[in-house]
Amino acid sequence: MRTSQRRWAERLERSVRAKLLVLVLAPLLVGVPVLLGLVWTWGDEAYERLLNFKISSDLVTAHEYFDSVRIGVGREVQSLAESHQLAGRLGTSPGAMSALLAELAPGRRLDFLLLLDREGRPLAASRALPETVPPRSDWPVVMAALNGSALTTVEQFPAMALATLSPELRERAWLPLVDTRAAAPDARTAEDRGLVIHSAAPVYDDKRRLVGVLEGGVLLNGNLEMVDRINAIVYRDGSLPLGSRGTATLFLDDTRIATNVRLFGDTRALGTRVSQAVRDRVLGRGEMWHGTAFVVNDDYVSGYEAIVDGRGERVGMLYVGFLEAPFRDARRMAMGALFALFIAISAAGAVLSLRWARSVFRPIERMNAVIQRVEQGETDARVGEVASRDELGRLAGEFDQLLDTLSAKREELQRWADELDRKVAERTAELSEANETLRRAQQQLAMSEKLAAIGELTAGVAHEINNPVAVIQGNLDVLRDVLGAAAEPVRHEIRLIHEQSDRIRQIVAKLLQFARPGEFAGYAEAVDVNAVVADCLLLTRHNLDKRAIGVDTDLRATTSIEINRSELQQVLINLMVNALQAMPDGGSLGLVTADWLEDGALAGAVIRVRDSGHGIAAEDLSHIFDPFFTTKKGSGTGLGLSISYTIVERYGGRITVDSRPGEGSEFSLWLRRDARYDVSPSAPGFLRRW
Ligand code: ADP
Repeated sequence: MRTSQRRWAERLERSVRAKLLVLVLAPLLVGVPVLLGLVWTWGDEAYERLLNFKISSDLVTAHEYFDSVRIGVGREVQSLAESHQLAGRLGTSPGAMSALLAELAPGRRLDFLLLLDREGRPLAASRALPETVPPRSDWPVVMAALNGSALTTVEQFPAMALATLSPELRERAWLPLVDTRAAAPDARTAEDRGLVIHSAAPVYDDKRRLVGVLEGGVLLNGNLEMVDRINAIVYRDGSLPLGSRGTATLFLDDTRIATNVRLFGDTRALGTRVSQAVRDRVLGRGEMWHGTAFVVNDDYVSGYEAIVDGRGERVGMLYVGFLEAPFRDARRMAMGALFALFIAISAAGAVLSLRWARSVFRPIERMNAVIQRVEQGETDARVGEVASRDELGRLAGEFDQLLDTLSAKREELQRWADELDRKVAERTAELSEANETLRRAQQQLAMSEKLAAIGELTAGVAHEINNPVAVIQGNLDVLRDVLGAAAEPVRHEIRLIHEQSDRIRQIVAKLLQFARPGEFAGYAEAVDVNAVVADCLLLTRHNLDKRAIGVDTDLRATTSIEINRSELQQVLINLMVNALQAMPDGGSLGLVTADWLEDGALAGAVIRVRDSGHGIAAEDLSHIFDPFFTTKKGSGTGLGLSISYTIVERYGGRITVDSRPGEGSEFSLWLRRDARYDVSPSAPGFLRRW
């Protein structure tokens, strides 16, 4: 539940459409219930008012009718009192008078008729009276008539009073009480009183002297004709809509004595009683009752009013009402329909707003999706054709144009960047090439300066040594000649001196060659490197065999090179001798020649001298071309490689070395097809100066 709430909140947070939708729907969702509430309340009030208004006007109509009945009874009694028929019988026997009254009463719809004397004592009656009947002057109507005024009221007749008039009336009035829900408690089991429209009128003789009183009445108990009449007048056929049923009732106190309210089936609810609430209000406080009341077994919109007797006492009630249920159902249906209508309108509004909002926001949502795709690298993603022609639709179109422009700019930038990269790489390569050249030039410069200094020194020393050595050797020869056989005991020492001084001479010669190589150089020619390699192999064969060194040759060079042949030989022999010395316990010597391709073009030939000797220590590698650098203590001069270097460089070639200690070394001689005589300032200076 929480997660779904959070998801909704997140959606609301992230979606403009959802926000606007809430904005649009909020008034609808808040307003509709409020409106419904108001309509409900107002409708309820209006409904109550309308029903109350109707019931009060119904009650007025019923009251009018009841009054007219009362007045009608009075009028009948009065007209009889004044009639000739009655006047004609005045003074006759009571029997004759009673017969007349009995004859007149039914025609006037009167339940009883009595002729009283001036004291109020009965003289004659429509029904047989008991022997002794007390004067009836206690009754308000009789009293008024004795005083000369006709009066009609509604009176409660106790059972005895009814019995006095006629046992039949008493019987008619008698009604068993029916237990009724919500009625005031009553211990009685039957209602034996009668509610009577009671009328009396003075009777005059022909001289207008009061001779008596004519008293008559109509018993209302069980008077269904009257309530049906009231009902028919108040609720004419079809006057009540929605199938509601009208009812009318006469109450004696709180008991229904004449009613068309049905108890069940077709039984009238006679003997049932009004609810305590109605009784208290109408009979107790004398107020009217307008509104819904529970009548017998259903809710009725009811109107009650009290019936007051001649003494001003509330003796009964008049009631009209109609079934509320159909109205209530109709109201419920109307409200239900209204509610459903509101719901339907809201739902339709929501759906419409949703669809509309979707169509409005589709361009923005598509733009958002495109932005995300572009961010993920899909640079050719576009919003495309949008149906909407409003600002957002146009914005989407312009957004596409913007993306196109951006894409074009990006491509242009990319091209520039590529170009820049290419140029940088080019420049870097040029720079590193220049650096390499510079490094080599610096190296050469350092080397040549070093060599120049050493050469100068060496040349001087060599000259100085040469002469004494020549003197030593000459004198040694002289010494041998002079001594002859006498020199025999020291012959070995003389030979040693000779050998050592010869070694000195050779070293000096090498020194001079190193210091002034030009003096030793012959002419340069086109030399077949393979042939030179073969010659050198021949020269060193003896040493190779002695040390059990195997030789591998792979001579593939196709081009000749320009060099002085004996100088090349000297360089090669030097490299081969170094290789031999690196393999004191035997090994293998590789001699390889190949074409040297520089930038795809044939530049010359390369001769590789490879051995499986002890190799060169890393710290020595940068010094091996230095003059006098040697690791061969006592036997080496340290001049072989520096002289070789100088020779090869002089023809525009170079020597490179690749060595792994413990595994062996490989020296490569790079020699040009067309010698490039190096006369640049970086070339070893002493070569030109010496
Ligand atoms: P020398 O041979 O008289 O020592 P070089 O100038 O010919 O002088 O060589 C200098 C040094 O280079 C040698 O002492 C040796 O240490 C090293 N060297 C030259 N060639 C080789 C090789 N093939 N194997 C191992 N070391 C070598």
